[in-house]
Order: sequence, then structure tokens, then C-alpha cells
Amino acid sequence: MIHLKTRSEIDAIARGGAVLAALYRELPARLQPGVTTAELDRWAEAFIRGHAGAEPAFKGLYGFPATLCISVNHEVVHGIPSVRRKLVEGDVVSVDCGVKLDGFYADAAVTLPVGEPAADAKKLVELTRDALYKGIAEARPGNRLGDVGAAIQEVADSQGYGVVRELVGHGLGRSPHEEPQVPNFGKRGKGMKLVEGLVIAIEPMFNLGTAGVRTLPDRWTVVTADRKVSAHWEHTVAVTAEGPRILTA
Ligand code: MG
Ligand code: MG
Repeated sequence: MIHLKTRSEIDAIARGGAVLAALYRELPARLQPGVTTAELDRWAEAFIRGHAGAEPAFKGLYGFPATLCISVNHEVVHGIPSVRRKLVEGDVVSVDCGVKLDGFYADAAVTLPVGEPAADAKKLVELTRDALYKGIAEARPGNRLGDVGAAIQEVADSQGYGVVRELVGHGLGRSPHEEPQVPNFGKRGKGMKLVEGLVIAIEPMFNLGTAGVRTLPDRWTVVTADRKVSAHWEHTVAVTAEGPRILTA
């Protein structure tokens, strides 16, 4: 069932979202060759807990062991931070994080380069981000979920990128994952009608190669089937009478 949010509930999600936004402002400077993904995770947990009332939302969620999902290069999402995983020059690093504050969840992801990645990977990252904002622009009352998905998919199709289909965006609020599902593909004018008070995480995942993915034996890390690079961007967005309100910016 869909849980629509009041203005004050949306404001509460935005307070957690502001912690995430601050974390992502500080993250780029930390993505240096030689840093381990476990070190990034420790920093992020302390950063979040340094804000009164804020907790890392993913740690322990469904058994996930860390604050950040860190997915490098051909890893799509849900990578587990590790002391053995050192970033190197040219890596493309997806970081996904959730914050729980005042009983509400906020969720956002970025994909950032370490130094200078390959040109095709850099373009993939930029266009996945563009697609996120194109999808967000459609998140207004009267539009449909298909308008969001189609806007995202059109960017991928224009470049021949694979759109991951097994993983989608989602509603969120008092739970980290609520209805509806928010696919990164679709047809304009189709799907659920968007109404004021709907809060959704919009999160395109584009692959440089084919759309196919598989899950590693750690049962978390999702990788591209062809081992080509993948990018992921996400914001938590409220549908309001004034249009889309990004709660994690
Ligand atoms: Mg996320
Ligand atoms: Mg999400």
C-alpha cells in the first residue's frame, strides 16, 4: 500500500536527507587512490552519528553489514566495504547510503571518479546523473510512474546503455522500502498516477554494456554480467503541488 506523506513528514525526511547531502559534499575529497572502502565506511558511520538523532539506515538492514554500499567499476550496487578493497586511479565508485532520522528514512547515491577514469566511463557517469534529473523533473502531480521511467530510459537508449531492470527505485518514509516500485524504464502515460505527498527514491542504474546483472556469492554485490562499468545515481524526491522537491540535495 502507498503511504502518502504530510508536509511535516516530508520535512522530517528532508532533515535526514540534509545529513546525506552533507556526507556527499565531503565524499569526493576522500575518494583517493589507496583508501580502502572500509575506511570510507567507518568515516561515513561516524559522520552520520555526529548529527543528533541520525543513524546509518543500511547497517543491519536485511542483514547488510555496513553504512555504505560501495560498488566499484563493474559492481552495480550493494558492494560491501572491505579492508582489502583499495581504490585506484581511474576507478568509478558508486556510493549508496541511507539515513534514519526522527523515524523517517532518506536514501541517495552518487557515482564518482577516482582521478580520471576512461572517457566512456566518465560519460556513462555523467549521463546517468542527467537521467536521474530528467526522471525527477517528471515527478509531479498528474504525471505517471511511466513518465519518470521513460524519461530515464530515453537517455540510456540514446547512448545504447543497458538499463538495469532487476533493481528499481521505491517509495520510502517510515520504512526504507515502500510501494510503489519505480522502474528506470517505462512508457509515457502508463503506470500509477503521481499524487501530492508521494515520496519516492528515483535511482537509475546504467551499464556501459548489456543490461544483464548477476549477484556474487557474497549474496550482496550485484555486478554487470559482461563486467563492463556501471553507474548509479539516486535522490529521494517528494511529489508536491509546486513540483518535485528533492529531499537529499
Ligand atoms: Mg540507495
Ligand atoms: Mg534506494
